Amino acid sequence: MIIPLPHPFVGTLGPISNPLTIYHHIVFLTFLFLIGACIGSFLNVVVWRLPREESLSHPPSHCPECNTRLAWRDNIPVFGWLFLRGRCRYCAVDISARYPIVEFITGSLLVGYYVLFFLYRLGPCNPPFTDLRNDWPAFALLMFLICALIAASLIDAEQFIIPLQIPWLLAIVGFVVHPIIDGPKTPASLNLDPHSLAAAIAAGGSIGLTVSMFLFLLGKMPQSFPKGEPALEIDTVQETGPMKKGWATKLVEYILKIIRGPLTPRQIELRRAQEKLKRKNDNIPAADSHKDDPQRNEPPPQYKPPEIRLEIGKEMLFLLPPMIGALAFAIIIHSSKSVDLSWMSLLQNHRWVSALLGSLFGALVGAFLVWIFRIAGTLAFKRVAMGLGDVHLMFGVGAIIGAGSSFIVFFLAPFAGLLVALHGWWFSAWWLSTSCCFSSTIPARLSSFGCGLARAIPAPSSHWCSASL
Ligand SMILES: [Zn+2]
Repeated sequence: MIIPLPHPFVGTLGPISNPLTIYHHIVFLTFLFLIGACIGSFLNVVVWRLPREESLSHPPSHCPECNTRLAWRDNIPVFGWLFLRGRCRYCAVDISARYPIVEFITGSLLVGYYVLFFLYRLGPCNPPFTDLRNDWPAFALLMFLICALIAASLIDAEQFIIPLQIPWLLAIVGFVVHPIIDGPKTPASLNLDPHSLAAAIAAGGSIGLTVSMFLFLLGKMPQSFPKGEPALEIDTVQETGPMKKGWATKLVEYILKIIRGPLTPRQIELRRAQEKLKRKNDNIPAADSHKDDPQRNEPPPQYKPPEIRLEIGKEMLFLLPPMIGALAFAIIIHSSKSVDLSWMSLLQNHRWVSALLGSLFGALVGAFLVWIFRIAGTLAFKRVAMGLGDVHLMFGVGAIIGAGSSFIVFFLAPFAGLLVALHGWWFSAWWLSTSCCFSSTIPARLSSFGCGLARAIPAPSSHWCSASL
């Protein structure tokens, strides 16, 4: 599955010309899989703890049911779960198969991207990846993005939110790492051409954005939807009824049955004792356990169309300073010869400046695309189209992959989601949209669009979502 794409994604499929032997590749691939599986294990922790505002490092891994601290051997990615046959060693509660699956998929993604980037030379090509020993910083940066997107997608699929820490971390990493590593020999560099309008737009837009953010923090810029953003249509659909199980769910359930086997008499005893104790302790019937979930407790207020227009107007106000800044900077730089010359020499003599501007430009373009879509869609359909979480996320994604790729990702991701939405289960959707993006080597917004659409398609009220994307 190779989709030909315009620059910078043109692959140069050809004979492997670097001096690495097959053994080098096998060592790298094994190493990457193991590292990826460990990262996946950490992502599982992030996905559970970040939306619950718990510390990521403390306490150490424990069974959520009986609180027993896990032994090191239980924490081994994929195999820990297999050795335990998917049950807590102490209280025999089922441990979700998602843990080993996420670990396995994260490891496989790192392996897959290595194969695409280094063996097939399908990937960012200014210049292309050649050797992991030289190009590891750029590779690590892109893999960091992939891992952050896995976490964001999983949290989004479960909680319908994207914790802002994820996009902000992405943006900060992009703004810091690109200026350090980018250069003529670094793959996926974002250095901007000194003559380009983009450099001026990036500088002016960033200054304008800083102004907006300061005004916002000082309370001079109104916040849109102060009582909480209305739920997106795609996010409310799930409440209408249980979804039909897709083939992937059935397959996983079948495999689980084989691995787990029946409970031993000792485990049955343990489990009964646990359940008894639990009921005694909190005196709450089991079915009510979702009540303490803050997301479900307070639904956002219903907004009428004129109110929605007003709130969206506030967001347009927020966008005004960056747009004015970009325009003003472009005009100032090209207004006089001396300013133009010193601007160009700044960019030519300091590659880190042009790399920083490239990263900023990517972030601005990524966020702006989603925001414009959100504003236009909301005004056109009189209800909120796309969440602000998507705006933040594309800001972070753009800071790492740059403007050109953000543009492609923005328009391709929904299609990847659409293709896979036919399967009723979000995990298959996530997996497949990953592999779709994979084929074009775009580290895409893996699935929030995909997840949303996967949930939306089977529901009767979904035509608007799918039609608008
Ligand atoms: Zn336990």
